[in-house]
Amino acid sequence: MRIGAHVDQADPLAEAASRSAGAAQFFLSDPQGWKAPKPREDADRLRAADVDLYVHAPYVINVATLNNRIRIPSRKLLLGHAAAAAEIGAKGLIVHGGHVNAGDDLAVGFDNWRKTFAYAADSGGFPLPVLIENTAGGENACARRLDALARLWDALGDHEVGFCLDTCHAHAGGEELLDLVDRVKAITGRIDLVHANNSKGDFNSGQDRHDNLDGGTIDPDLVVAVIRAAGAPVIVETPGGVAGQAADIAFLRERLGTGA
Ligand SMILES: [Zn+2]
Repeated sequence: MRIGAHVDQADPLAEAASRSAGAAQFFLSDPQGWKAPKPREDADRLRAADVDLYVHAPYVINVATLNNRIRIPSRKLLLGHAAAAAEIGAKGLIVHGGHVNAGDDLAVGFDNWRKTFAYAADSGGFPLPVLIENTAGGENACARRLDALARLWDALGDHEVGFCLDTCHAHAGGEELLDLVDRVKAITGRIDLVHANNSKGDFNSGQDRHDNLDGGTIDPDLVVAVIRAAGAPVIVETPGGVAGQAADIAFLRERLGTGA
């Protein structure tokens, strides 16, 4: 089982090495911006590396929204990131589930997700797995709670869609971690990646505030149990830089009894 961290995008392989990580997740552009990712000069080196790479799409992307001025550029930015992530040999592109605005019909949001995959399919399909991630907040989110996630997966139908389970987002979003993997897999059939984070916010607080695994409001044993049940690669998106994340990775290795 590969365990890694979300790291700075300038030199992800050096960042991974400094944490003894077997996997690295990073952004390919400003996560708060709309600029398309630039081709990376280190693409050959990234592709050849013995580190599993994951790309996190910008936070501004919201393909579900009924607002055309956000949805259309979101779709474009997602496709651009998929091409750029495939170019560096990434295993997956992680994107948040998105939301509709207050008063808007969530059913349209789910259908907008379907259209995103249909649009990609028209141009040959996404060149790598796209992993939709559960989110912590909002009352109109597509992937905060499992009832919404089930509707999203229904809408996506036969399209090839992956899932990234974030333990902080689940807890803060109001889903108990106990047996969560079984309940998620009953909907999605798969978990491609676990974001192993503790939560500064309380259960169901809606707050997206990550903490180190031995801090926060989640019993770390529950995070370990989620990882075991998921059987998927793990990325920690925790604070504390190299030291904090290396400690989280070491903690997981020890608890999981894996040399990964
Ligand atoms: Zn996450």
